[in-house]
Amino acid sequence: MRYLPIHVETRGVTIRVFGGGKTAESKLRTLIKTEAHLEVISEDISSEIARWEELKRLTVIKKSFEVSDIAGARLVYAASEDDVLNAQIADLAREQGILANAADQKSACDFITPALVDRSPVLVSIGTEGTTPGLARALKADLEKRLPSDLGKLALLTKKLRAKVKMHLPVLSDRQTFWANIFGGKELSNQLRKDPKTFTEAVENALLNQKEVKAGQVTLVGAGPGNPDLLTFAAQQALHSADVIIYDRLVSQEVLELGRREAEYIYVGKTPNGPSVTQDDINALLIEKARKGLHIVRLKGGDPLIFGRADEEITVLHNADIAYRIVPGITAAAGAAAEIGVSLTTRGKNSSVTFLTGHDAKGYAEQDWKTLAKPDSRAIVYMGVGASRFIQGRLLIHGASADTSVTVVENATRPEQKVVSTKLSALADDMTKADIKGPAVLMLGYSANRAEITQIIKAVS
Ligand code: SAH
Repeated sequence: MRYLPIHVETRGVTIRVFGGGKTAESKLRTLIKTEAHLEVISEDISSEIARWEELKRLTVIKKSFEVSDIAGARLVYAASEDDVLNAQIADLAREQGILANAADQKSACDFITPALVDRSPVLVSIGTEGTTPGLARALKADLEKRLPSDLGKLALLTKKLRAKVKMHLPVLSDRQTFWANIFGGKELSNQLRKDPKTFTEAVENALLNQKEVKAGQVTLVGAGPGNPDLLTFAAQQALHSADVIIYDRLVSQEVLELGRREAEYIYVGKTPNGPSVTQDDINALLIEKARKGLHIVRLKGGDPLIFGRADEEITVLHNADIAYRIVPGITAAAGAAAEIGVSLTTRGKNSSVTFLTGHDAKGYAEQDWKTLAKPDSRAIVYMGVGASRFIQGRLLIHGASADTSVTVVENATRPEQKVVSTKLSALADDMTKADIKGPAVLMLGYSANRAEITQIIKAVS
C-alpha cells in the first residue's frame, strides 16, 4: 500500500483550489460536500462554479496565481488547465508543508482523491493508486447499486441506538460482538434496507435476546490450504465476529487479514527451532478466553478435522461445558488435487483413497504398507516431507512398482505453489533436488494433468 487512506476533518479548515475551469469544477464537485471553507483562485470561472458561489458553497477570488496565495490553506488543489503551472503550485505548497494535489499528475501529488460512494456519513472510498481508474469506476458503479440510498440515515439512527446498547452491554467487546451480529450476517443487504422502525425493533429484540447468547463460544474454523478464495462463507462470518483469533502456522496471511481488525490475534504455531505452544497451553487458552464470554475463532490450516488435533480441543471444550461449532475447510489434499487437475477417486481404478501422515507422535508413522503398495492404491501423505525416503523405501520393500506416479504439491493454492512430478523410485531425490521444504502433500498414484499452469519440476530419473 503506497497511499494511506485517511479521512481529513474539514470543519474550520480552508481548502484552496487554483483554477476555474472544468478541471477545478470536477474537484469542487466533491469538495463542496465537505464543511471546508473553499476558496477558488482564478481569473475566470465556469458558470457552474459561479452558481456554487451564488449558493455560498465557496468563495471566488478573481486573480492570477501568486506564491503568497498558498499560505494558510490546509490542502491545495492545483487544478488550472495548465499542467506546468499546476506542478509548480503543488511544489510551492509542498515547500510550505501543505499537502497538494496537482490535477492529473500523480507524480506531483501528495495525495490522490479516491472514487467515492457517498452515503454520508457512510463513505466508501475506492482507490487503485492510479493504476486502473476504469476498475475503480466499475467497483463504484457496483457498490452504488448495492448500497441503499438512505444508508446514511441508517447510520445516524444507529448512532442514536448505540447509547441504549451501551447501557445494556457496558463491556466494549460485548458491544462489538453485538453489532457484528446485527450487521455481520448474510442478510446484510436486507438489514440495510430496513425502514427505521423495523431496524430499531430488530436491534431492541437482539438486545433482549442478548443474555442467552452471552456465554462464550469457540468456533473451530478450517482456513483452507492458503488461497483466501477457498474460505467458506461460514468461515468468513466467523472471522468477522471473532473477539479472539487463535491461529496455527499454516494459516496464510491473506486469510488472517480477513479477520476482524479489533480482534486479539494469538499465534500458537510451532516455529522451527523456536518456542512452541503446547496443546495443553492451547486448550487452557481456549477455556480462559471462552469463560470471559468471548467469541473465539480457532483457526486451523486446511480442514480442522484432518490431522488438526481438533478432537483434543473438542473434548476439552465439551468437558468444560463451552459451546463450540465446527466450520469445515478445504483440506490440503483437495486443494492440491484441484490445482493439478486430477480426481482423487477414479471409477474403475481406486475405490478408496487414504489420507495418511508421514509423522506421528513417535516419529515416522508406520502404515499398512502392503495395502498401500498394491497397484491401484492411491494415497495422500500429509506431513511427509521429512519422511519421504522412509515412505519410498517402505512401499518399494512391500512390492510397489518403482514406476508408480507421484506428484508432490508444495504450498498448494498459494502464489508460491510448486509441483514436482516424479516416480516412486526417485521420490526422495527429486524432492531434494526441487528443494521441497513444505508444507507439501505427496500424492501417491497421481500424475498431474494441468502441468502447464503450475511450475512443474519434471523428474530426471
Ligand atoms: N488440517 C490440515 C492438515 C494439517 S497437517 C488440512 O486439512 O490440510 C499439516 C500438513 O498439511 C502439512 O505438513 C502438509 O502436508 C499439509 N498442508 C497444509 N497446507 C498445505 C498446502 N497449502 N499445500 C500442501 N500441503 C499442505
